Amino acid sequence: MKRTVIPAVEPTSLPVHGTDEVFPVRRVYCVGRNYAEHAREMGHDPDREPPFFFSKPTSSVTGSGRTLPFPTQTQNLHHEAELVVAIGEMGSDISAEEAEGLIWGYAAGNDLTRRDLQAEAKAMRRPWDMAKGFDQAAIVGAVHPKSATGVLTRGRIEAHVDGTLRQGADLADMIWPVNDVLVYLSRLVTLMPGDLVMTGTPEGVGAIELGQSCSVTIEGLSPAVVTYA
Ligand code: MN
Repeated sequence: MKRTVIPAVEPTSLPVHGTDEVFPVRRVYCVGRNYAEHAREMGHDPDREPPFFFSKPTSSVTGSGRTLPFPTQTQNLHHEAELVVAIGEMGSDISAEEAEGLIWGYAAGNDLTRRDLQAEAKAMRRPWDMAKGFDQAAIVGAVHPKSATGVLTRGRIEAHVDGTLRQGADLADMIWPVNDVLVYLSRLVTLMPGDLVMTGTPEGVGAIELGQSCSVTIEGLSPAVVTYA
């Protein structure tokens, strides 16, 4: 093993529910517009165009329950409640039948978005990275093994800000179910153990202000909570 010239980075990891173990995070991929009503609220027609993807830096993944400084350079920080799929097996150009076998577990997540910077990027046909990939931009709850939850295809998904319901839908409302998302993504990149896939958000996205707390809950999973102070 060669000596590193600067300290090597500790891999980002998430707690595994009900154990002392952790899930090591490799990469973070996100699906755009995967619920019809959210596509409409963002000004798009939710016909079944193939899903599209973006990514967040692994370092942006932050566990649930922390109090964080408010993100810089935004006046419009939005919550996006999402089911996060944790990948446990390698897969490239997989079939829908193979997709389930790649899933290690699931978590609740918040795909935090600087909506003002995203709108500017869209208008100027620039990348979304600084709208989606800032420090601590992915709040993710404990990972629940698929061996305990079974394959998740339905279940209530909600976001509350200071206790007020903002987003409420069912995982079954996804335009592209998880298996299809993994099929498309595996054509673009080889899925690897440790990858997280954020599967898109339902309608009702909106702002979180300094001093507020946002909780994303999914039936059967641990919540993903963040507080800004
Ligand atoms: Mn999202």
